[in-house]
Amino acid sequence: MMLATPRRPLRAIAAFEWVSILAGGASALIGVLVLVGWSRGIDGLRTILPGLIPAIPNTSVAFIIGGLAVMSASRERYDERFVLITRVLAVALTALGILFFVEQAANIDLGVDLLLFGNAVRAIDSQSAGRPAINSAVVMLLDGAALLVIDARTARGRRPAELLGGLAVLVTFAAIIGYMYNVRVLYSFGPQGHMALLTAIVLSVLSLGVLFARPEEGVVSLVAAADPGAAMVRRLIPPAFIVPIGLGALWLLAGDANWVSREAAVSAFVGAVVITFLTLVMRAAVVVRNADLQRDEMILRAESARSAAERAADRTNRLRRTAEALSSALTPIAVARVIVSEGLPALSAAASEVAVLTADGNALDLMAVSGLPSDVADAWRRFPVTSRVPLADAVRTTEPVLLDSPEEIAHRYPDLAPVLERVNVRAMIVTPMVVDGRPLGSLSFSFSGPRAFDESDVTFTRALGQQCAQALERARLFAAEQSARSEAEAANRAKTEFLAMMSHELRTPLNAIAGYAELMELGISGPVSDTQRDQLGRIRHSQRHLLGIIEDLLDLSRLEHGKPADIELGPVPIHDTLGNLEPLIAPQLKARNLSYIYNPAEGGLIAYGNRARIEQIVLNLLSNAIKYTAPGGRVGLSCGLHGGQVEVRVSDTGHGIPREKMDSIFEPFTRLEMDLTRTTEGTGLGLAISRQLARAMLGDLTARSEIGRGSIFTLTLPINAPVIADQPPPITPSSSMIAVPRDAIPLHRVRM
Ligand code: ADP
Repeated sequence: MMLATPRRPLRAIAAFEWVSILAGGASALIGVLVLVGWSRGIDGLRTILPGLIPAIPNTSVAFIIGGLAVMSASRERYDERFVLITRVLAVALTALGILFFVEQAANIDLGVDLLLFGNAVRAIDSQSAGRPAINSAVVMLLDGAALLVIDARTARGRRPAELLGGLAVLVTFAAIIGYMYNVRVLYSFGPQGHMALLTAIVLSVLSLGVLFARPEEGVVSLVAAADPGAAMVRRLIPPAFIVPIGLGALWLLAGDANWVSREAAVSAFVGAVVITFLTLVMRAAVVVRNADLQRDEMILRAESARSAAERAADRTNRLRRTAEALSSALTPIAVARVIVSEGLPALSAAASEVAVLTADGNALDLMAVSGLPSDVADAWRRFPVTSRVPLADAVRTTEPVLLDSPEEIAHRYPDLAPVLERVNVRAMIVTPMVVDGRPLGSLSFSFSGPRAFDESDVTFTRALGQQCAQALERARLFAAEQSARSEAEAANRAKTEFLAMMSHELRTPLNAIAGYAELMELGISGPVSDTQRDQLGRIRHSQRHLLGIIEDLLDLSRLEHGKPADIELGPVPIHDTLGNLEPLIAPQLKARNLSYIYNPAEGGLIAYGNRARIEQIVLNLLSNAIKYTAPGGRVGLSCGLHGGQVEVRVSDTGHGIPREKMDSIFEPFTRLEMDLTRTTEGTGLGLAISRQLARAMLGDLTARSEIGRGSIFTLTLPINAPVIADQPPPITPSSSMIAVPRDAIPLHRVRM
């Protein structure tokens, strides 16, 4: 299982993670090579570097165990299994350290000294005879203990491990320096044996590996981390080591060769150390100052990023608010005012103008102005689109115009510059308002100081221009729709007035015609011959026909505006209504030699509607059935309850109606091109009126037909008063509510 990494390793840290692997690997490898050297008697391998004293086998075993332990410790943060491996190896290393320490301190042989390659060891090194020096034992112990207390998962043990590892590094470095300056006490802690140079080097590398097993924590992180502090430490460490060591060597050399006096050498040493320290301190100061500058710059950058983000958020908010406000702005002036009032604060502008193209596209009208003196606004209330001004240029080019300084204004608009200077305009941004590639006008924001426009200013004004253009287009469509509606309403009013006038103007003379014809028929003005009687009959017939058409037209016109007030709805006993119709159509049935079958519903069926209008519809359907059925055919009337509605069906065995005409017969003035219709009287209004009437009574009128076999027209009516809020409450059958007087049934509609 992977353990959680405490934090993402920075680049420098990632590189330093390899220190432990390399140090541990080197230590273990040298240990193995030395052991191979002992086992094969190869001197080169025992000493690794020529001229060194060989490392003894027991120490080499410690190199291998310690090396593996360090490698394992550096991996355990990534793989939990290494925790156990590190522990076991660390215990072994500690145990070796204790063993050798006890042997050296108490000077006793615990029987391990010559366990490995004893003979070879004794032959070469009779003095130490395979027992590591006491300082080597101490280093093993310290490193082993450090690796034991390191805890991969918690920070616990970090400090003790650091301390133990640090001490181990110190002991080995002391030995190395002892060898460099030939100071025995530094590499030999007692009379019994001393830490070999190879051992000192390997153990120092191993101890550094122990310290770097946790490169991102504690003191080591001061070297390994990616921050400027660590970068400084990395730079200062090499001179901090090299300069004093080098000076020390020089001093020794000088002393040995007697070049300078002791005092002069000391002063030179002191001077050099002071200069070195000063240089290091100065470099540290430079690093700190750079880090400070870098931090300040980052703070500045963060602040400017934050204010840019805040400005962007504010502008997004304003665009949203503008869109909301524009949704209720229905005139160009209202739209322009919204844009100006939202845009000004968002851009911290001093003035703003919205200019809209006139209908002919030749001029621009200022729809809204803010922040400019009224004389300037008045002077520019309307100006040609060809003017050399930013507002007109933006419209002509459909590109924004950016003027960031008075110099730029003077350069591009020399004529306008004095005016703008007088009204304190030093910079300006103008954006076109475009819909579907068509410019509608332009929008400007002016500033009282020079201003470098950035990308966000341009984007924001463009978005504002876009919103304004869309809102203007909406306002234009709204105005067009309003005027179309009022035109339509006026036309409708004219039509109604015309119909009312026509009904009055035509009906009066028509009634007079009928009256006089009747008088003549009665012979009041003198005897009437048979021919004259026949001609008078034709006059009366034509008069009735004309009156019928006028009535139909008036009816249709009233129905087109919804249910006329005179159609009151209530319960209608269907059988009574339909049963009374036969006498009215009997003459026509007889004249065309048609049989008639009435099939009433069982029981008293009550529909909800208007009796007179139901009679009008059914009479019209029966009249059509008679008209369009050839002599000898059959006309039927039936009623019943179907799907919770009353259905009245009028059927015939006529020539039928083509399927594709089924809808159009309900349109006004539709008459199908058939021989019969040509010879049959009719206006093409009957079905249109009937369907409108049926719907006015919350029912419907539909038809089915088969060519050559006949047609069925079905009138559906509700059985109860529908529950509609504005519907009057149902009236009981007793209270007769037929608003259309019985004698008002237009009998003329039964005309053949
Ligand atoms: P009109 O009968 O005055 O012409 P209608 O609106 O009543 O007008 O009818 C429209 C047309 O529908 C008629 O001209 C006729 O062509 C067709 N039509 C109506 N009823 C029938 C029917 N029962 N059989 C065949 N065609 C019909």
